[in-house]
Amino acid sequence: MGKVGLSEVTVGQWKQVQDIVLANEGTLVSECGRLMGRLDLLIADLDENGESKGWIVADLKTGNPPKLKLNEKVSRQLRFYRDLLVEFKPPTTLRSRRGMVLVQPDGHRADGPSVLDDAFAAWEGMRHSEEPLEATPGEVQCGFCEWKAWCPVWWSARRDGILPPGSMFRDEVVSAIKFDPESGPALFERMPPVGSDGELAHSDHRFGAILRDQA
Ligand code: SF4
Repeated sequence: MGKVGLSEVTVGQWKQVQDIVLANEGTLVSECGRLMGRLDLLIADLDENGESKGWIVADLKTGNPPKLKLNEKVSRQLRFYRDLLVEFKPPTTLRSRRGMVLVQPDGHRADGPSVLDDAFAAWEGMRHSEEPLEATPGEVQCGFCEWKAWCPVWWSARRDGILPPGSMFRDEVVSAIKFDPESGPALFERMPPVGSDGELAHSDHRFGAILRDQA
């Protein structure tokens, strides 16, 4: 079936599509429950006789498709779904399990060895432990990290120049000195870190702000 406008899709074509879609938004879980993924679409890959020769695992992305090849993270994500599917949850609706599983988002194909061993190793590495994991502050990882507000290492890394100071007021550690909840004016005091365990000191650096809604 070639490219067809949505309003021109016939009932027959729609049935054809339904026939090859084996699962959508399916949750994949390893037998032990440690690994989990949610695939967007699982499609039967048919040969010229309409026989299933394998599966296509698709992950639907917004944004521009990759120009040359998939980036490593997307490739790993897709191979992770593929491997979970093959190892733990073959869909019962699949007509044939012959052939290999293909991973093909937006026409770009990700092949490669299984990533399950790495995924289990990552899971092991994230287990709770008596001792916290060693912090490795850096611009990329800290930029996305939701843990900043509780992370003493992040704040001391800012002090020590390991992380650049932000150009605007965000991700600061302050104490609220005064706040009028009726009209929003507030006075803050910047709290620099002492040591590396999260202890804070007072400072002479005070500044005002108007707080409205959530900001
Ligand atoms: S803020 Fe702390 S926990 Fe988060 S990435 Fe940075 S160092 Fe790690």
